[in-house]
Amino acid sequence: MNRLSLALVHYPVVDRDGNIYTTAITNMDVHDIARSAKTFGLDNYYLVTPITAQQELAKTIAGFWTDGTGKLKNFDRSSAMELVSVNNDLDSVVEQELLLTGAMPFIIATSAKPSLEKTATYEEAQKLIKSHKSTLLVFGTGHGLAKTVLDRADVVLTPIYGVDDYNHLSVRSAVAIILDRLRSR
Ligand code: SAM
Repeated sequence: MNRLSLALVHYPVVDRDGNIYTTAITNMDVHDIARSAKTFGLDNYYLVTPITAQQELAKTIAGFWTDGTGKLKNFDRSSAMELVSVNNDLDSVVEQELLLTGAMPFIIATSAKPSLEKTATYEEAQKLIKSHKSTLLVFGTGHGLAKTVLDRADVVLTPIYGVDDYNHLSVRSAVAIILDRLRSR
């Protein structure tokens, strides 16, 4: 099967005023997104942060379950945490996928706001995933992905909409809903 991975970007993302900043790794995002990624058969869960102390924190959280006593306590959690890989930037994630498949990964970005130029519906995204050796689903933190990340994506997925204009989900919820739409049986 073609590869499907996700990246959770902590930099570059925007704050409430639209300025670029770096968000902090959260324990919940590491755990819950790893479990969704495992449930829906993803190949990797790339955490992206340039801050060394944050990288160490993420490695410690995942490492407890993959190498430490957590592995003995809870194999299900450990198998999800094995998908986690900590990276400096999106370029190094793209590089790893390129090395694994020999092809540039197809990049699908996500946002609560619709993209004006390059939207893909969930049905289109399913077909795109099947036709590429490797696809990277990119999720933001803070107030969403920086424009530079949205610009480098091949497509931006149609936002998840609720019953009215409010559609600002936690990234953990957005990941679970999107993976269900793209991968469930
Ligand atoms: N206002 C931000 C935006 O436009 O994306 C919301 C940021 S949200 C806290 C963090 C991440 O969750 C987003 O970058 C996106 O990956 C995902 N997300 C949140 N709500 C979403 C929605 N309704 N549709 C698609 N993705 C969503």
